[in-house]
Amino acid sequence: MSNLLNEAKALQNEIVKDRRYLHRHAELGMDLPVTSAYIVKRLKEMGYQPEIIAGSGVVVLAGGKKPGKVILLRADIDALPIVEENDLEYKSETENMHACGHDAHAAMLLGAAKLLKDHEDEIEGTVKLMFQPAEERLYGAKAMLEAGVLESPKVDAAAMIHIFSGMPMKAGTLVVAEGGYSSSSGDMFHIDIQGKGGHGAMPQNSVDPLNAAAHIFMGLQEIIAREVTPSSTAIITIGQIHGGNAANIIPDTSFIEGSIRAFDKDERELMKRRVVEISKGIASTYRAEASVEYRMECPSVYNDSSLSKLSIYANRKMLGADNVLSFADVFTGGRMTGSEDFGFISEKVPSIMMALGGGSPEEGYPYPQHHPKINFKEDVFYIGAAVYTNTAIQWLKNN
Ligand SMILES: [Zn+2]
Ligand SMILES: [Zn+2]
Repeated sequence: MSNLLNEAKALQNEIVKDRRYLHRHAELGMDLPVTSAYIVKRLKEMGYQPEIIAGSGVVVLAGGKKPGKVILLRADIDALPIVEENDLEYKSETENMHACGHDAHAAMLLGAAKLLKDHEDEIEGTVKLMFQPAEERLYGAKAMLEAGVLESPKVDAAAMIHIFSGMPMKAGTLVVAEGGYSSSSGDMFHIDIQGKGGHGAMPQNSVDPLNAAAHIFMGLQEIIAREVTPSSTAIITIGQIHGGNAANIIPDTSFIEGSIRAFDKDERELMKRRVVEISKGIASTYRAEASVEYRMECPSVYNDSSLSKLSIYANRKMLGADNVLSFADVFTGGRMTGSEDFGFISEKVPSIMMALGGGSPEEGYPYPQHHPKINFKEDVFYIGAAVYTNTAIQWLKNN
């Protein structure tokens, strides 16, 4: 076992303590006063000077004593509006739950902060630690980008880890994305259809927004069927259609909401554009008017292939070859259909997404992410801290 891994293991109790505190005080979205105050307090105890940006985001720099590049390590820190159903001594005391493991991410990155502090003189460049709010709403990374997280000092590369439970991934296994896309984009659209209400017995005097909505629903299916490459993974789901409230009244308006998911950037743009064109075109065909708004937008995570190779190589050296897999070994087609707002960062700098096995069903962890009974095997958290640290130190050494 390498020195760094041993040093991380010695921090295991501290990491678990941090995780349990954050777990008990689960908070949502951009408003994480208890969570970010705790992270700031812990970083100050380690001798850092953390900065709060974008409301509840925390940024801190390690190293910088030797010249070199800057790598960013990202942990998301927000929870979900789920009431926890676990009976644990550190059960959530709020109405929210860390059911995606972001409490573990924050604790592992705090562990990495300690390790980096201990090795500060050896770091060949600078490590920027990013504790990010509102990943579950897919806009926290964007908010921190807009607040300048990639500037002063300018970031050259970025890495993230997500812990997973309830999947066929042995606890403690590290899974590294290959070069290319590893998560899908996620774009939510809202279509308002304006018609002209009237009596159900006199449709000729009205413009029926329900008729237009029905045709738009059908029309949007053609995008996947006729416009997207057949071998691509691309999804358009319409999740709600609303309008009207009586059998004999033609309503004034209706609306449709749905989501688009894609991996490829160009296909994502095509689908987003065609949803607008088709909705407006069909609405006007039936004398109505449609306006389309994207209320949430998140790009796919794009992984840099040389950063991927370095992460696999450096972490195999630390954890052993058998304990480091690639996304293709675990996820169908080497990628996940969920979205991850680290995608915003991966659009700006070479990036890598890594996953850490936090317990499989065979190991007694049957529940998937976002389940009210999910938990993670705490014994592996130190591995996450070591991987963050090792990836950063090795990348800086080689770049
Ligand atoms: Zn989640
Ligand atoms: Zn998550």
